[in-house]
Amino acid sequence: MAKVKTHYEDCDVLVVGGGMAGTGATFEARHWGRDLKIVCVEKANIDRSGAVAQGLYAINCYMGMQWDENQPEDHVRYARNDLMGLVREDLGYDMARHVDSAVHMFDEWGLPMMKDEKTGRYLREGKWQIMIHGESYKPIVAEAAKKSADKIYNRIMITHLLMDESKENRVGGAVGFNMRTGDYHVFRSKTIIVAAGGASHIFKPRAVGEGMGRTWYAPWSNGSAYALPIAVGAKMTQMENRIVLTRFKDGYGPVGAYFLHLKTYTQNANGENYEKKWYNQTKEIVGEYIDHHPVPTCLRNHAFIEETKAGSGPIYMVTKEAFQDPHLETVGWENFLGMTIGQAVVWASQNIDPKYTNPELTTSEPYVMGSHATCSGAWVSGPEDLSPPEYFWGYNRMLTVDGLFGAGDTVGGSAHKFSSGSFTEGRLAAKAAVKYIEDQKAENIKVTDKQCEDFKETIYKPLENYTVGRNEITGGTVSPSYILPIQGLQRLQKIMDEYVGGVGVNYMTNENLLKRGLELLDCLQEDLENVGAKDYHQLMRAWELKHRALTSQCVTEHTLFRKETRWPGYYYRGDHLKLDDENWHVLTVSRRDPKTGKFTMEKAPVYHIIGEEKKKVAS
Ligand SMILES: Cc1cc2nc3c(=O)[nH]c(=O)nc-3n(C[C@H](O)[C@H](O)[C@H](O)COP(=O)(O)OP(=O)(O)OC[C@H]3O[C@@H](n4cnc5c(N)ncnc54)[C@H](O)[C@@H]3O)c2cc1C
Repeated sequence: MAKVKTHYEDCDVLVVGGGMAGTGATFEARHWGRDLKIVCVEKANIDRSGAVAQGLYAINCYMGMQWDENQPEDHVRYARNDLMGLVREDLGYDMARHVDSAVHMFDEWGLPMMKDEKTGRYLREGKWQIMIHGESYKPIVAEAAKKSADKIYNRIMITHLLMDESKENRVGGAVGFNMRTGDYHVFRSKTIIVAAGGASHIFKPRAVGEGMGRTWYAPWSNGSAYALPIAVGAKMTQMENRIVLTRFKDGYGPVGAYFLHLKTYTQNANGENYEKKWYNQTKEIVGEYIDHHPVPTCLRNHAFIEETKAGSGPIYMVTKEAFQDPHLETVGWENFLGMTIGQAVVWASQNIDPKYTNPELTTSEPYVMGSHATCSGAWVSGPEDLSPPEYFWGYNRMLTVDGLFGAGDTVGGSAHKFSSGSFTEGRLAAKAAVKYIEDQKAENIKVTDKQCEDFKETIYKPLENYTVGRNEITGGTVSPSYILPIQGLQRLQKIMDEYVGGVGVNYMTNENLLKRGLELLDCLQEDLENVGAKDYHQLMRAWELKHRALTSQCVTEHTLFRKETRWPGYYYRGDHLKLDDENWHVLTVSRRDPKTGKFTMEKAPVYHIIGEEKKKVAS
């Protein structure tokens, strides 16, 4: 390790991940902390990083309060309904009441927003979405972050959080490495805001072999947002609530604009509207939730999955009618060109012109995230003025580790934030982090050289494993002494797929499968001590894998704990095939003991603070 150069940086606010939430946090930290040292560290390059790297065609969360289009209460009801009753309403309300101001800043900063010619308002695509020409979305928010930060570090992957050695359960910084130079970076910081996106590629993807890597969710989102806090003992919530998306087949192009703007619809191979066929069967599982409007996302997936299992697939999106209108045809294509060019390429390669051929849809492999139609992530404090005592411990968006904050996909319990809501949540977290520093909560943090040196040893071990073991190989890539990151990844994906409810088993699992899955994940963890990396890029892959594996353990523990099928269409507990409001109208909360590696689980109450009197539903 002597050869590796070490860089030290001392700062006040360290933002890990410069995606939507991270850029929002960096920007806002400067507003409140004029004299503070603010640093943002990004694994890629913040100009084109995260889930919005390619751009977006719509901002999916905008209230339009200035025109009374929606109020924050409406958004909470919407998210609660979509998540089958289980959200942190304090967090959702807090995000919703601030999100419009973030969108107005995007407009001021030059993001091309579409306007309704008649009203002059932002052009709506649906109740919550507004349309943008969004190819430049990410560079625009990145510019705001760059102007606000003391320093932006690109190409550095954060692998571990540092802990204060003078006060228990307080964070002290983070460490990582530059995957171009290989240098080791130590950031000693008073506060950390983790904004490192969600987790793709923990379940086996549908696209394997020649299409490997193709997923709906950003392939570079590797669960650091979860693994970093889990490793230091922060509590997590709703990690079982993985998301499955219905999307255009093979390219995973978005369907929202097609439904909402082009008014396209789906049908089975026989040209039938299949969703209503499954109404009674779905009602058996979830009761009156199927009568809610709009129908929760998972339940629409459920009808799709059942129809396909019953042999009436493929399921098609009927585009042939809408595409006869030249304007709608243009909109249909532009929808991909601004955010998922790959879908247009897939259609070209498969001889699909949606004007003449209805394209197929598919349901994706599951992903873990906290900002879309799902709410996995960290258990955080809510805002002072809204949160009941169980949801409040001093600083908005602070995790259960002091000085450690989260935003965007990192934060659990608050779904439907999307790009604008994640940016907004970054702002909220940064404001609270600055207050934490001003309140003198981050004084006398002690991070010894030994702690930093120990992590250095750990981080570069995969390079060591490879260097020592490579001569034992007689051919190919199979070594008696190490596994390569890709081999470990495929093993992880197979375990998650077969035991935890992936596409290979139609999203089905049960207690016995989950217990066996946990045993196999334990074996994988042992073998990950022996992962080998031949260069810095593979070293990144090795750490991505380790973060994915830890995230997967947490997902599996949560899935085992919740003994019901709350979200059919996302996953099924075959041994508890019904939604059970009496026992499970609760949030699940886990904590992994950093010393033993063991998880403990508990239930936390769901408070419905919007729409009815504040009352405790269950605990
Ligand atoms: C396919 C897709 C389509 C979407 N469509 C829309 C849409 O149309 N409209 C809309 O409003 N929203 C949309 N969203 C949602 C939106 O993109 C997310 O809500 C938002 O990007 C989440 O913000 P985030 O900051 O949590 O994560 P991200 O924006 O993904 O940022 C995470 C960042 O962390 C970095 N990172 C990860 N690990 C590390 C590490 N260990 N060290 C350092 N850096 C790290 C990543 O490189 C990345 O830059 C879509 C999302 C996806 C995946």
